[in-house]
Amino acid sequence: MKYASSLLDLIGHTPLLRLSTSLGPEIQVDPDTPQGQETGPVVLAKVEYLNPGGSVKDRIATRMIEAAEAEGLLKPGGTIVEPTSGNTGVGLAMVAQRKGYSCIFVCPDKVSEDKRNVLKAYGAEVVVCPTAVAPEHPDSYYNVSDRLASEPGAWKPDQYSNPHNPRSHYETTGPEIWEQTDGKITHFVAGVGTGGTITGVGRYLKERNPDIQVIGADPAGSVYSGGTGRPYLVEGVGEDFWPETYDRDIADRIIEVSDADSFAFTRRLAREEALLVGGSSGMAAFAAKQLATELAAEGRTDAVIVVLLPDSGRGYLTKVFNDEWLAQYGFATGGAGDRRTVGEV
Ligand code: PMP
Repeated sequence: MKYASSLLDLIGHTPLLRLSTSLGPEIQVDPDTPQGQETGPVVLAKVEYLNPGGSVKDRIATRMIEAAEAEGLLKPGGTIVEPTSGNTGVGLAMVAQRKGYSCIFVCPDKVSEDKRNVLKAYGAEVVVCPTAVAPEHPDSYYNVSDRLASEPGAWKPDQYSNPHNPRSHYETTGPEIWEQTDGKITHFVAGVGTGGTITGVGRYLKERNPDIQVIGADPAGSVYSGGTGRPYLVEGVGEDFWPETYDRDIADRIIEVSDADSFAFTRRLAREEALLVGGSSGMAAFAAKQLATELAAEGRTDAVIVVLLPDSGRGYLTKVFNDEWLAQYGFATGGAGDRRTVGEV
């Protein structure tokens, strides 16, 4: 019999899927083309929604918790406190359940009830803070999470400064990609949020082969692509500050992607590749497609581009996959041809 004894053993080892029709006519690959017989650059998607908690963040959750146990920061029966309502929360809640820890997530009141309910489903507690108060107010998101994290037995992973965030990718995601491509990868593309993914994977791959190009995909307006933190709608990527977990020297290039292109391409991945993924995946895949088009024009038929797709589209059914929501911002609901941005609405 072959089975896992713990859900945690199912984290990682996600597959690579060759993209085909969504790449456009210049570099389109017929899905039936045998491996190695493609005529242009190959784009391979690392499908992270197949992790048990549904996202790439399961990897950092396990690694951060194991390291805290080893360092004596998290003791049996302890409480994990993190200000998050997203994928990191789900990963932490899942690992905490398996290891017998309590979890408290602090999130602003604008976070949807669905997201809060996912965390509660794993047995976590969710503390909701008002968005309308100043950061120094005792009820603010920041103050409440700091107060809870200073209670006895509490530990705050802080994914934006925890070195085990990038390290988990250096130890798992990077080696998996190297092995799955038999060392033939030439370009790695990932969206940048905390920067943990690009930093950890990029470091590992460049150690194996310094010629591998590491490319960050970033929402227009975010600091990584030279913005000021101006608002954008894609979730999970882009920042208005520089986190410690991001190595500023790791990316050879940053490709800026508009919300319109990110969302149109997210829809296209579902319709043309049957890949139901989130908006940050669409953003990264759009950047990979742009890169592939450039490399095809240069005659780089050897190029093997790996793009990481962080999470599933299930969490965005009322947003990216909702025509009214998209139309409200002036975005197209069909193909990727529409180039309107939020500012033009
Ligand atoms: N996409 C989504 C949906 C995410 O939740 C995150 C994590 N914030 C990322 C992309 C970016 O990954 P990282 O934090 O490793 O840069």
